[in-house]
Amino acid sequence: MSILKILYYPNRKLKQKANLVSNIDHNINKIINDMFETMYLAKGIGLAATQVNINKCIIVIDISKKHNQQLILINPKIIKRIGKIIMEEGCLSIPNISAPVIRSEKIILQSLDCYGRLFELQAESLLSVCIQHEIDHLNGLLFIDRLSLSKQNYIKNIIDHNL
Ligand SMILES: [Zn+2]
Repeated sequence: MSILKILYYPNRKLKQKANLVSNIDHNINKIINDMFETMYLAKGIGLAATQVNINKCIIVIDISKKHNQQLILINPKIIKRIGKIIMEEGCLSIPNISAPVIRSEKIILQSLDCYGRLFELQAESLLSVCIQHEIDHLNGLLFIDRLSLSKQNYIKNIIDHNL
């Protein structure tokens, strides 16, 4: 396994839309393993392939403290949204910044697993928020893009002054 380099905002590659995975082979499984290792090292609970400069619809998630609840999403698609929730979000691509974001509280999604089998998953609260945050990455969206313009400008100012 190897550690992948995480892209940081405002890298323009974070704005790219990821391509669907058409063939889940050894290479894809290697990417998944590397993404988990990279995410655990960075102390994240989710990582999208876009964030490690891989233009494919792949997400790894583990919201457990013991690192024993790995969730792999390939070509995920949200098919139902229920309710609203506001949670404080951060992002490995935007270090040291967090802000409350409005998301759907419950979601039902369809995804492929690492063997290419279609499965359906219902998620709520933190897991639901994490999945929505990571799917945004695959669409070239960051959590700060979901904030009000004044908040976005405030955060961009902070980042610019820390560069
Ligand atoms: Zn993120």
